[in-house]
Amino acid sequence: MYTDLKDQLTAELAEIEEAGTFKHERVISTPQSNRITAGPLGREGAQVLNFCANNYLGLADHPRLLDAAKQALDERGFGMASVRFICGTQDLHLQLEEAVSSFLGTEATILFSSCFDANGAVFEPLFGKDDAIISDALNHASLIDGIRLSKAARYRYRNADLDDLRTQLEATRAQNEGRGARRTIIVTDGVFSMDGYLAPLPGICDLADEYGALVLVDDSHAVGFMGDTGAGTPEHFGVSDRVDLYTGTFGKALGGASGGYVSGRAEIVAMLRQKGRPYLFSNSLAPSIVAATLAALELVAGSAELRATLFRNAELFRRRMSEEGFELLEGEHAIVPVMFGDAALAARMADAMLEHGVFVTAFSYPVVPAGKARIRVQLSAAHSEADVEAAVQAFIASRTAVQS
Ligand SMILES: *Cc1c(COP(=O)(O)O)cnc(C)c1O
Repeated sequence: MYTDLKDQLTAELAEIEEAGTFKHERVISTPQSNRITAGPLGREGAQVLNFCANNYLGLADHPRLLDAAKQALDERGFGMASVRFICGTQDLHLQLEEAVSSFLGTEATILFSSCFDANGAVFEPLFGKDDAIISDALNHASLIDGIRLSKAARYRYRNADLDDLRTQLEATRAQNEGRGARRTIIVTDGVFSMDGYLAPLPGICDLADEYGALVLVDDSHAVGFMGDTGAGTPEHFGVSDRVDLYTGTFGKALGGASGGYVSGRAEIVAMLRQKGRPYLFSNSLAPSIVAATLAALELVAGSAELRATLFRNAELFRRRMSEEGFELLEGEHAIVPVMFGDAALAARMADAMLEHGVFVTAFSYPVVPAGKARIRVQLSAAHSEADVEAAVQAFIASRTAVQS
């Protein structure tokens, strides 16, 4: 009897629309790139500059990736029609796992359909009721969900707050009738995506050593471009060998298609192959995606040029916006939040930006704290300096338009 539920959902959807939090999708009719054609559903799109993709290195339409994907389609087919352990493992999958390990400097890697799945897989087989998982309050939804799937005791520390992390580590000592948790793991995003802030990894690793805890970093917003060789935030902070587990996505800087991984200690990865439910019960990554991601890693490992362009663009944008009197959250990441405070103002600015040919997104409560509404700008190596300046000019023109 769908009638009741239909009425309830219709009313609920109307409430979301009224609250102004309904997520309307813009439809893009070009490849993901610095310039895209995008418009509201059902209307013809306009060409706009794109400053809200996670396409940090501009690889989403890179010719080398496209060639690799096409070649894999010809030589390895479209799909695997199997999970990995039955008949879904090609040589390409093993090559990509090795390439990720070698890129990150880890012992072993296991692939998943997404980082959401990687985070859904990693906790449940390793941490049971005698164990403790300590998680940053601003961690990604997939970490929160993955942690919930395990039976471990859950602790949460205030975002990037080492004092509170210590408090939570102390609290684990009460577990198991005062004998302390059997296994303890500290879990953090490498980069907090609403602020572009980096997790304080050296302090986290020090506390982990002091309390005998493991460290897991989800480096989805950093893998491929943070650190000297692009290996991510642990490399950036010089703590690569102190991080036990990395999770990450291929869906952002590394081509942006899909796929994720858990990488790190060999025995843990071996156990996930036996017991990780999203690995055992979900389809193997498509060969074309695997091959193109391999090409992405080769590109990134072989040259620092794309990283350098990305950070040049980010610095240029930060400098120009500050000169023009906009309030930014300080940082070193390619995520640059432009602060407006008021939710309605940020939303009007984002609309005005689109009219001035620049696609950006406004974020407000509950995604960010109340009164801290912002437009999150994301730079890419695909942007030219002229693109960056065009975005700055669009901010200036939109500010004038919104104020009048
Ligand atoms: C984007 C993101 C994910 C999800 O990655 P998918 O591969 O798209 O599932 C997980 N964790 C973090 C921190 C992310 O930023």
